[in-house]
Order: sequence, then structure tokens, then C-alpha cells
Amino acid sequence: MMYQKRINVTKTFLPHLEEYMAQVKRAFDNDWLTNRGVLVQELEAKLKEHLGIDNILITNNGTIPLQIALKLLAREGEVITTPFSYVATTAAIVWENCTPIFVDIDPLELTIDVTKIEAAITDKTTCILATHVFGNPCNIESIQEIAKKYGLKVIYDAAHCFGVKYKGRSVFSYGDVSTCSFHATKLFHTGEGGAVFCNNELLRHQIYYSHNFGHNGPEAFFGLGVNAKISELHAAMGLAVFPYLSAIIQNRKKIVECYNSRLDLSKVQVMNLHANTHWNYSYYPVIFESEVVLLEVLGRLHEENVFPRRYFYPSLSNLPYVAKSEVPIAESVASRILCLPLYYSLTTDEQNRIIDTINSTIK
Ligand SMILES: *Cc1c(COP(=O)(O)O)cnc(C)c1O
Repeated sequence: MMYQKRINVTKTFLPHLEEYMAQVKRAFDNDWLTNRGVLVQELEAKLKEHLGIDNILITNNGTIPLQIALKLLAREGEVITTPFSYVATTAAIVWENCTPIFVDIDPLELTIDVTKIEAAITDKTTCILATHVFGNPCNIESIQEIAKKYGLKVIYDAAHCFGVKYKGRSVFSYGDVSTCSFHATKLFHTGEGGAVFCNNELLRHQIYYSHNFGHNGPEAFFGLGVNAKISELHAAMGLAVFPYLSAIIQNRKKIVECYNSRLDLSKVQVMNLHANTHWNYSYYPVIFESEVVLLEVLGRLHEENVFPRRYFYPSLSNLPYVAKSEVPIAESVASRILCLPLYYSLTTDEQNRIIDTINSTIK
């Protein structure tokens, strides 16, 4: 068989090395590598403008800000959450001594099913932590209404949402707190990194000091904190990637449109976007008729040296450290879903190879 280049579900977007080095040189020239140096502040300012939001705090990853938000808002109570997300969402809840209460998902949009939230609320419930999965916004209005009715806080894991707008506004601007990941595999990245968004001034202050050991100057403390600071070297990567953002999104759009037009969509289900969403083309999930078909497709793709990922499998309700719960839709979707390769340098030939392999397997 002809040698075929390995294709993974994603590939980190790398700027030219000289562009990264030029940013790193600035950190060297400043003799300053962390503690909110000029590169971090410049990246924050650029992202703020680009996203059209009032506030952003960039952090060392997308998980610690979830933990900080839960520490401040969930206070070791029960947290209503989705079983269909990356493990970080549930792990953060358990790590903060809270109890995850799983609510099943909508089978078409793949986000938490808001019609099932109220039945899961008890007098121990403090918070809702929902994921805008694959950049698809949750039913934000309904969640807000429920939260208001029961006095709950709302945190959104918006790790996949860079560039997503809902009703004309950055999706990061919704909820009490919203978090994003700038991990190397995400649409916009700093190698490792993330961000936290919050509209409430007091809460913003709490998050800010929590992310820097609780410091109030060198010799005093506002309260308990941890270290969630991002370094200048990571901000340097962000500044080098930043100019490519619209090219990255345009390119992904083209790849998504090609999947949409060439995949046999009578045999697979794709994700329904929530209404009023300006999406970022961050993932291309396909849901097969059964796990048997998924495994057959996966096997054929592996023969072609193509490695999609089973995002997100298994359902988080099956983690060994959570109590069992009834979430049949999430479990069914998790067993049948595959995210297809989607990244900047994926060529048309490579994409055709993927599509032809899938179509010929499911026909
Ligand atoms: C990537 C991801 C995270 C974690 O982000 P890190 O920056 O890797 O810590 C959290 N939640 C979801 C849904 C993710 O995909």
C-alpha cells in the first residue's frame, strides 16, 4: 500500500518559529517571565477587543479557573452538570469537594437538557456547571431562568468556544462565570493556557486574587488562593498565533462545509446548532447508528492511517469516582460519536480520503 501520512483528529497550529521567537525575545529583553508581564497584558487587551468583551483574565489553563469558580460559587454543594464533556468538567467539581449531579443531554444539540434540570435540584444544589459542547451554546435563557428561580450560580465551561457568538455577543459574556481553554489542541492556543470571564465586579476581584495565591500586595492577603498565572512564554505563543485567527476560522469553515456536502448525511447524524449562534467550526462530530458501526468505521480509518477521536467517550457518568446516574441519551451518544479530523493544514486530498472511507463503510 502507498505510504499515507498519519492524520490525527487535530494538529496544533504553529506560527512561524521566527514570529514566536520575536515575541520571546521581548520577554528576554524585559528580563520578565511571569507575574502578569507586558506580553500577558498585551494579549489580554487584544483578546478583549477581538472578542468584544469588557473583561478577561488569562490563566495557565482552562481547568484551574473552573476550580476557582467552583470554590467561590459552589461551596462544596451539589453541582448540576452535563455527562457529555471533557473529563475536566466533572473532575473540577469532585476536586473542589462538590458533588456532580448529572442531567441528561439534548440528543440533537448535545448540551444539557434544560427540561430535566429542575427535577435534579435539591436543597444542597448551589450551582449549574454546563458545557457549550463543541462550541454549541447551551439553552442559556432557560438555564438563567432556573438559576434565578432557585438562587443558583451558573458557570459555563466554554473551553471550545473561542470566537463563538450567541445573539450577537461573545458566548463568554453569559453566566456568572465562563471559562475557556487555550490548550495546544484548541482553536486559539498558547500551548497551555486559558481564560476566565465574569461580569460581576466583586466576583471578578475574588477570581483575580484567587488566581495569584490570594495576594493583596507582597505582604497581605485578601483570602485563599492558588497559582493560575500564565507565563510570558505562553503569552508569546498567543501573540504569535493571534494574527492568524481569522485565517484559522475561515479554513475550518471550508473544511466543515466540505464534510457537510460530501459525507452521506442520510446515514450519520451531525450536531444541530442552537438558534442565534455564530459558530467557530471548532469540531466536526458525527453520530453513527450504533457503536458497532462506529467501531467498523474507526477500524477502516485506522487502516487508512486516520485517527479521529471518540470525543467524548465514555460518558462522564461512568467515571470511577462518581455515583451512578440515569443518563441514557448521553451514554448512547457517547458510545456512537466520533470527532473527525479538523485542522488548519488538513488538505482536500486528505479530507477526501477520510470522507470516502466513511461513506463506503456506512453505505
Ligand atoms: C480542553 C478542555 C478543558 C480543559 O482545558 P485545559 O486548558 O486543558 O485545562 C475543559 N473542558 C473542556 C470541555 C475541554 O475540552
